[in-house]
Amino acid sequence: MPVIVMNKTRLVSCLLALLLPLSSWQEEHSKLLLVSFDGFRWDYVNRVPTPNFRALMEEVTGLHAESHGIVANEMYDPVLNRSFSMEGSEVYDSRWWEEAVPLWVTSQKAGRRSGAAMWPGSDVAIGGVYPTHYVPYNASMPFEVRVENLINWFSGNEAIDFGVLYWEEPDESGHNVGPESPLMDVVIKDIDIKLGFLRDELKRAGLYDSINLIVTSDHGMTQLSHDKVIELDTYVSQDLYTWIDKSPVVGILPREGKLDEVYNLLKNANPNMAVYKRDDIPDYLHYKHNVRIMPIIIEVKEAWTLVQNKTGYFMLGNHGYSNQLRSMHPVFVARGPLFRAGYTKSSMRSVDLYPLMCSILGIQPRPNNGSLGNVRDLLVETCTTMPTPTPVSREPSYAWAVGSLLGTALVIGFLISFVKQVTERRQLPLPLSNKEIFKPLLQDELRL
Ligand SMILES: [Zn+2]
Repeated sequence: MPVIVMNKTRLVSCLLALLLPLSSWQEEHSKLLLVSFDGFRWDYVNRVPTPNFRALMEEVTGLHAESHGIVANEMYDPVLNRSFSMEGSEVYDSRWWEEAVPLWVTSQKAGRRSGAAMWPGSDVAIGGVYPTHYVPYNASMPFEVRVENLINWFSGNEAIDFGVLYWEEPDESGHNVGPESPLMDVVIKDIDIKLGFLRDELKRAGLYDSINLIVTSDHGMTQLSHDKVIELDTYVSQDLYTWIDKSPVVGILPREGKLDEVYNLLKNANPNMAVYKRDDIPDYLHYKHNVRIMPIIIEVKEAWTLVQNKTGYFMLGNHGYSNQLRSMHPVFVARGPLFRAGYTKSSMRSVDLYPLMCSILGIQPRPNNGSLGNVRDLLVETCTTMPTPTPVSREPSYAWAVGSLLGTALVIGFLISFVKQVTERRQLPLPLSNKEIFKPLLQDELRL
């Protein structure tokens, strides 16, 4: 089945790059549109008829979280001594984002133009730079309006070279009803219809055959159960720590001098959760070398939820679990003049998207965790060959920290969710009133 599954969701990311001098490859570049349907698991296309995804298939950062610095939707930075929440105004404080350089920033410094339709972080002045065109985040803006903005930006005398488009579904519904619910079918069908709208509009504008289109997501989604809940209050007093971020990867900031006491209370407390001191987090998670990662991290097994106690809203779907789980893998479909037609790849890493996109845009990648060599097979052989960038070191040294500041990327969009999990429904700075998102779901609920 011609879907390319991404590996390592938590590894997110990508986009971004270096402020290196330009050279000959800058003249050879193509247009690129990156579309992210939040939380679109790789196998959703098999659940219901998805003719627009199928049509694309037939036609047809890089940084880990520890490197780009957006390690969770809720964070504490001990150097800044500030907390970050997707729900608060601090999302507009560029210091949170500047361990990475968004691809649109690098692209613009290379003389390209960019446009962002609701891509997370695109309305933040990262390194003092916004996309050439962008719209302040507003969850209420319909998908169709976002597409129209992009079509306009890709047209005319000063057309953009790189566009990014973000849509909040099917993530919201996946959290609310769980990915295995039959109610998700109509949500997935609706995403396919939206993809169809995008394709039609690109065709109508005469862009469809010249643009390289990537449709992907930041992560998958797994079903939760009311029977699989761990209450942390059972094992450790809240007086001993501060709870940073939420299930399924919980950051624990112990009170001064309480690290070992809290760790020892938790380490063997429950067989369905793994408890790590930061330095002991497994390497395959690529989630260790950043001060925003808390001294103790708890990771629960798939389908389990970790809370302090059973109060408040309970989600039936979530992401942020191990990148080894297939349920965490997002969809990936691409088409365009630089992509091989009718080609299927069994899996790829999200971090390899960044060098892939840099190659398409003809810009020099910044140091990153991805590898163009891993994904070059997706491209036709004539695609521009880029110089090999310096890999980002994962050594927890001061030099590494400096390196990450120099380097990286963006991801921002992806970022946010890319990274881990998110637990809660995304509460955004503006009122979440996109009735359109929920319409199909609500209609189905009424039928039941
Ligand atoms: Zn989510």
